[in-house]
Amino acid sequence: MIDLARRLPPSAFGVVDGQLAVEGVAIAHIAAEVGTPFYLYSAKRLRENWRTLADAVAPLGVAVHYAMKANANRAVVAVLAREGAGADIVSGGELTRALDAGIPANRIVFSGVGKTDAEIARALDVGIRQINAESFEELARIDALAGARGVVAEVALRVNPDVDAGTHAKITTGKRDNKFGIDADRLARLDNELKVLANVRLVGLAVHIGSQILSTAPFAAAYRRMADLTRELRARGHALTRLDLGGGFGIPYRAEAGLAAADLAETIRTTVGDLGVELAIEPGRSIVGDAGVLVSRVAFVKDGGDIRFLVLDAAMNDLMRPAMYDSHHDVVPVRMPAPGAERIDYDVVGPICESSDTFARRRSLPILAAGDLVVLATAGAYGATMAGTYNARALVPEVIVDAGRFAVTRRRIEVEEQLSWETVPDWL
Ligand SMILES: *Cc1c(COP(=O)(O)O)cnc(C)c1O
Repeated sequence: MIDLARRLPPSAFGVVDGQLAVEGVAIAHIAAEVGTPFYLYSAKRLRENWRTLADAVAPLGVAVHYAMKANANRAVVAVLAREGAGADIVSGGELTRALDAGIPANRIVFSGVGKTDAEIARALDVGIRQINAESFEELARIDALAGARGVVAEVALRVNPDVDAGTHAKITTGKRDNKFGIDADRLARLDNELKVLANVRLVGLAVHIGSQILSTAPFAAAYRRMADLTRELRARGHALTRLDLGGGFGIPYRAEAGLAAADLAETIRTTVGDLGVELAIEPGRSIVGDAGVLVSRVAFVKDGGDIRFLVLDAAMNDLMRPAMYDSHHDVVPVRMPAPGAERIDYDVVGPICESSDTFARRRSLPILAAGDLVVLATAGAYGATMAGTYNARALVPEVIVDAGRFAVTRRRIEVEEQLSWETVPDWL
């Protein structure tokens, strides 16, 4: 178990009667009721991850805004809302989901480079805490929409600190050539810009340098830069009272160590702790990543000559990360093999007609057969939220477990229901 399932947190996952279980519930039992594939979340682990991080930064007065895009499932967000979470949203849809889960508007922060007028207007109408603006153009747009409503919008400016996060290129966001934030060098423009924007109040700066960052060094560099810029802007007369430090805290997908909450807290304390501002962070992955797995059944074991293929009933439309980010997910059989059982190398693939529909290559696993269940570990973040219906496949369901009970929180959306979303014009 320990060897096979390194990435399954033991507080939530264990073995009961030789079978993998979540909070004491046999995964095979859930699979028999729900069918496969499906996402499976542990409420206990969600709370544990939340509390570890929130408790570590609490002494520094840091507000924690959960980044909804990592996993916006209704039950998952409800668990976090009840823990007192705020939210970091990147769309009007996520605003609706955050409010639905019971997160108060005044604990919601809105990030993103391309907010629409309708999204900004709605954010102002429901009275969210802060809009993180990513350009001078957006500041002007917010000003106009706030003016039309007779309100003053509280805005933080997302700054691009030009720091290399040392992570995968597709999830690096804090380098100058990334589309995110305003160049630190161009902030001098603010003095004049803000004079003419009467309906915008600049309350602080925001930064988010990327995702799955495993060392404190890039955070320290970015936070220090933010502290310097905050002091500079204050010296020029801007009354900054907030600093949003973003998310991106890395977790172990294989043998690496994650970014420890205590180390993050210490980095925050030493870089911005004495700035005299209200601090906030926006964790996504580190809250939900290891609280979720994707459960799948082996459809075929295909002997490809040199390579043996484990063909699953889950595919890249259900879990996009390996295709998109070359990410690693441990593959764990639900029935534990006997000690010392033979292992062979498999390429673990889905059924979709693309070679990128591959979850793992040359993975050493116990011998498996069609019908066996496996889980793909560490799939709680950027898994179900990125799922689609490519190849006219069903939209994958999501199940949550809490203290020995389980419930389907999103049911499987079959193709018949998907057809009902579409029409053929009668003039065609
Ligand atoms: C995606 C995102 C986050 C969360 O990133 P994680 O790596 O999941 O912690 C936080 N803030 C902003 C602005 C984001 O875009």
